[in-house]
Amino acid sequence: MNNPSNPCGSNFTRKHLEDILDVAARNYLPIIADEIYAGMNWTEHPFTPLYEIPSKVPILTIGGLAKRWLVPGWRVGWVVLHDRDGAFKEVRRGIGNLTQTQLHPNTLFQAALPKIFKTPQSFFDGVVKELQKNAQVVKEELGKAPGLKVVEPQGALYAMVSLVQKLN
Ligand SMILES: *Cc1c(COP(=O)(O)O)cnc(C)c1O
Repeated sequence: MNNPSNPCGSNFTRKHLEDILDVAARNYLPIIADEIYAGMNWTEHPFTPLYEIPSKVPILTIGGLAKRWLVPGWRVGWVVLHDRDGAFKEVRRGIGNLTQTQLHPNTLFQAALPKIFKTPQSFFDGVVKELQKNAQVVKEELGKAPGLKVVEPQGALYAMVSLVQKLN
């Protein structure tokens, strides 16, 4: 799952995440939680990282710089394993192997990470404010077009648009 969502622009409630975990638990499924847009939402309910909810479901959380730091193309990201019962033992080994055999982010950006992680909260707050403003413009302006209905974006960088009538 991807939350907040590309391409839906949604930000799941805690209850919705609990329901997803419930389905996964009943079916013995692990979850890959791509949270690259973590905290990039403007809903009343906060962004909830999936791993924060108590559960036995093994969760593989994906994060990175591309979106929150507005540097798509840098290709710097991370994987965090939330592995309650050792279900990811082989996965952990596999990921370790991959990091040894493939060349991914460049060394300069990796070296800058300690400083990048000290980015003040005001930067993220500013980005979210700007995104919300832009989302509102998209919703209002695109919503004026006959036949288009824009779903109110809650987060991330996307807006879903539906066709509500025939355009003869
Ligand atoms: C942009 C994006 C990423 C991160 O991509 P990078 O390779 O770091 O640029 C991950 N997941 C989703 C859903 C994205 O939209």
